[in-house]
Amino acid sequence: MALPAGAGLVAYNAAISRCARAGLYPRALALFREMRGRGLRADEYTLPPLLNSSALLRAPPAAATLHALLLRAGLASHLHVANALVDAYAKLSRPGAARAVFDEMPRRDVVTWTSLLTGLARAGAHDAAVRVYRGMAAAGVDPDEFAVAGVLSSCAGSTMLELGRSVHAAAVRLGFLPFLSVGNSLVSMYAKTGALRDARTVFDAMRARCTITWTALIVGYAQNGRGRQSLEIYTDMVRSGCRPDYVTFIGLLFACSHAGLVDAGRAHFRSMVTDYGIAPGPDHYACMVDLLGRAGRLEEAMDLLNRSSTELDATVWKALLGGCRVHRNAELAERAAEMVWRLDPADAVPYVMLSNLYSRERRWGDVARIRALMKSRGVTKEPGCSWVGVNGVMHLFHVEDRGHPRAAEIYRKVEEMMERIRAGGYVPDTDWALQDEAPDGRERGLAYHSERLAVAFGLLAVPAAAPIRVFKNLRVCGDCHAAIKMVAKVYGREIILRDANCFHHMKDGACSCGDYW
Ligand SMILES: [Zn+2]
Ligand SMILES: [Zn+2]
Repeated sequence: MALPAGAGLVAYNAAISRCARAGLYPRALALFREMRGRGLRADEYTLPPLLNSSALLRAPPAAATLHALLLRAGLASHLHVANALVDAYAKLSRPGAARAVFDEMPRRDVVTWTSLLTGLARAGAHDAAVRVYRGMAAAGVDPDEFAVAGVLSSCAGSTMLELGRSVHAAAVRLGFLPFLSVGNSLVSMYAKTGALRDARTVFDAMRARCTITWTALIVGYAQNGRGRQSLEIYTDMVRSGCRPDYVTFIGLLFACSHAGLVDAGRAHFRSMVTDYGIAPGPDHYACMVDLLGRAGRLEEAMDLLNRSSTELDATVWKALLGGCRVHRNAELAERAAEMVWRLDPADAVPYVMLSNLYSRERRWGDVARIRALMKSRGVTKEPGCSWVGVNGVMHLFHVEDRGHPRAAEIYRKVEEMMERIRAGGYVPDTDWALQDEAPDGRERGLAYHSERLAVAFGLLAVPAAAPIRVFKNLRVCGDCHAAIKMVAKVYGREIILRDANCFHHMKDGACSCGDYW
C-alpha cells in the first residue's frame, strides 16, 4: 500500500512511525524504500522508528544500512538518532557495535546509557553492564527504572550481591520500587544470589505481582533447597489467579526433585500439559529424570524419555547419568553417556561421571578405559574455579591456585581446616579425583580443590556473623561437599555454596540439597 504520489517527507515520517508503533515493522521499512525511490531524503525523524523496526525484526543488515545512511546524511549528531542506533544494536545483541556508537557520541542522556546497559545485560556481558552503571553514576546521570532493572539482572548473572544491595538502595532513593520490572529484578537478584530472606521481603512488599514475580520466588526457593516452600508459594500463586508459565514449571519440578517429592512431581508434570497446555521442554524432562533418578526409578526415567516427542538435549541425558552414578547402574550410565556424546562429542561430564561410578565400584580397569577414551578423543575439561565476594571484590581460585596475594595464609587455613574436620570424623573420598583434575590431565590432591581454597579464604576474610558465599562454575565434587559441610559445623559458620546445579546451604554439618546433586 503506497502513499499517494506527491506525499512529502512529513507524510512519510508520520506513516513510518505509525507503522513502527503498531508493530508493522516490514511495512515501515517498505515505506522507507518507497520514499527513497521517490527521491525523498530521510531526516532525523525518519530514522529512529526504522532502526527500532529493524532491531525488532532481528535484521542486522537493515540496521547496518540505516547506520551507513545516517552517517552519510550527517544525522548522527542528533541525540535521539544516535540513541536509537545504540538501542538497535543492543537489541540485536551486538554490544560491541552499540558500545562503538556510544563512545563516539558527543552528548549522551539517560536513554543512551540505559540502552547500552540493558543491551549488555541482555547479551550476558554482566561485568561490562556493571561498568556502564558505574560510568553513569560517575557522569552524574541518575539511572531510570530500566537501567536499574538491567543492572540488577547483571548483579544476579554475575552473583554480585553487595552491588545488588547498593542498587536496591538507589532504587528506593529514586522511588522506583513501585515499578513491577524493578521489583521483579530485585526478587530475582536476591533469589539467584542465595539471599532468600531478602527476596521474600521484597516480594511481600510488592503492591502488584505477575507471573515473573511468582516464578522468580518459586525458582529461588527451589534452587536454595527449600522445595516444600517453593510448592507452597505455587499454591498461593494459583490462588491469587496468576497463571504459571513454562519457567514456573521448571522451578516446580526442580523443587519436587530436590525435595524428593516423586508423586507431586509427576502430578505437576501432568498438570502442566493438561491444565495449562504447556508442552514439556528439555528442562522439564531433565527435572523429571532427576526426580525419578534420585528415587532410584531409573527405568521409569528411561521410559519417560523414550516416550517423549520433545527434542531432548544433553542436560536430560546428563541428569539420567547422574542418577545412574548414584545408584551405580553402569549399564544404563553407558547408554546415557552415549546419548550425550551423540549430541556433544566434546562434553567432558560423562567421562567424569563414568569414571566416578567405576571407581566407587572399584572397577579400576573401566576407570582406565574411560580415561583413555577421553584422552584419545582429545576431550578436555573446563577447569574448575570458585570465587568468593568480599567487600564488592571477587576473589577467584583455581585448583591448587597460589596466585592470591594471601596465598600462604590461605594454604595454612586449608591445612588447619583439614586437621579440624579430620578430628571431627571426615574421611577423604578419593573417588572424586577426576572431578577437578588440572587441564593437563595430571591428578591433583583433593585438598586444594578451588572450592576449598575459596572457603578457607572466606573463613579468613568474611566477618564471623555473615554467611560465607562461595560460587563454583562446575558441580561441587562429592568430597569437597562432605568436607565443607564439616567445616561449616566445626567452625560454626553458615556456608552457602552455589555450584553449576543448585545452592548448597550448609550449616551444622548438614546441607540443604540432602546430599544428592
Ligand atoms: Zn573437590
Ligand atoms: Zn549440598
